[in-house]
Amino acid sequence: MKRKRDMSDPEKSLEDYQRLIAIARDLASTLDLDVLLNRITRAAADISDAEAASILLYDDAARQLFFQVATNLDLQTMRGLVVPLEGSIAGWIVTNREPVRIANAHADARFYNKIEQTTRFTTESLLGVPLITKKKVVGVLEVINKHNGNFTTEDEDLLLVLGAQAAVAIENARLFQQTDLISEFVHELRTPLASIGMTTYLLLRPEMSQEQREQMVHNIHGETLRLNTLASSFLDLARLESGRVQFHLTKFDLPPLLEECRQIMQSKADEESVTIRIENPADFPQVEADRDKIKQVVLNLLSNAIKYNRSNGSVILTASMGDRDWTLAVRDTGIGIPEKSLPHLFQKFYRVRASENKVSGTGLGLSICKQIISVHGGSIEIESTLGEGTVITIHLPKAA
Ligand code: ADP
Repeated sequence: MKRKRDMSDPEKSLEDYQRLIAIARDLASTLDLDVLLNRITRAAADISDAEAASILLYDDAARQLFFQVATNLDLQTMRGLVVPLEGSIAGWIVTNREPVRIANAHADARFYNKIEQTTRFTTESLLGVPLITKKKVVGVLEVINKHNGNFTTEDEDLLLVLGAQAAVAIENARLFQQTDLISEFVHELRTPLASIGMTTYLLLRPEMSQEQREQMVHNIHGETLRLNTLASSFLDLARLESGRVQFHLTKFDLPPLLEECRQIMQSKADEESVTIRIENPADFPQVEADRDKIKQVVLNLLSNAIKYNRSNGSVILTASMGDRDWTLAVRDTGIGIPEKSLPHLFQKFYRVRASENKVSGTGLGLSICKQIISVHGGSIEIESTLGEGTVITIHLPKAA
């Protein structure tokens, strides 16, 4: 029974094993996690003759799983889905570190039916295996709805081999991503730390006047605030880049959100003598997106438009609705951006040289905005004229 397919269809078996070898080769040659995991899930669906396949990664802090890749779901749908550790088949696989093979998922007490309500994809038969690296379960590989009959032990064996490959790929990519990001972060910490170190050294010198001391304490305070923002922005970005942030899509009115953001930024605008104006049609239709994340983007863009402005300058927020998408433009009458800097603005930690020492920042804000907008399936663009001002426009699809 176990090797049934070996005997009935040796050619298909040979093809399956060749496919496994090809994946092992890919694994050695690329660190692009998404490319690899996509190949692994597609191979899993083909080899086991299933309608769909997916990889869910386990977040042990939140005790839940989230979809990393799926052959039947798009990125936006996946990012909104979480599967709890308790009360789900994937959770059971993580906890028990064992494969599960089920002919009728709906009849199984562990089945978590909330996913179906969002995806409208009905699960009948299911086979799932744990992804284990270095004795740790990092996630689950699942195939759903076998085209003919039920999943076999042969399918299970092949899926375990693919699962082992996926686990190694995840581990490698995570290590690689972490070292890359961490070394950039550590590099960014050096400048403020050196500045704080030097200032405290000078503070201890007896010849410093009271006025100089006050100025130095002020510097230390400023650098500490910046380190704080750097740490939280860095964490935000690292979480977004690793795909661990869940997006919760809702329908909401945009104008009140813009007004909320204006109120939050008003005192900062007053300090800089900058006025903020909001322009949108009174009957602006509702939009569908993750409201908190869009708020984060708007606050970031508003903050930049105020920071890089001039005294008595202005900022105008303009929302407009198109046929298929809606846009929000944040226009300022500020210092503008040199043309040669424009292609680099979305790079992590990038800041325009000329304003770097005059205005406090981390160079992470725009990278965070871009990540959030692209998970929504939208785009962000910048136009700027040096000395005149900047317009940053986000385009988001109407139906998420
Ligand atoms: P930061 O924390 O430095 O503001 P961002 O990623 O938000 O980081 O922006 C990157 C750089 O882009 C900024 O350092 C600044 O030089 C430039 N920039 C962003 N927005 C504007 C703007 N509205 N006007 C002029 N320059 C801007």
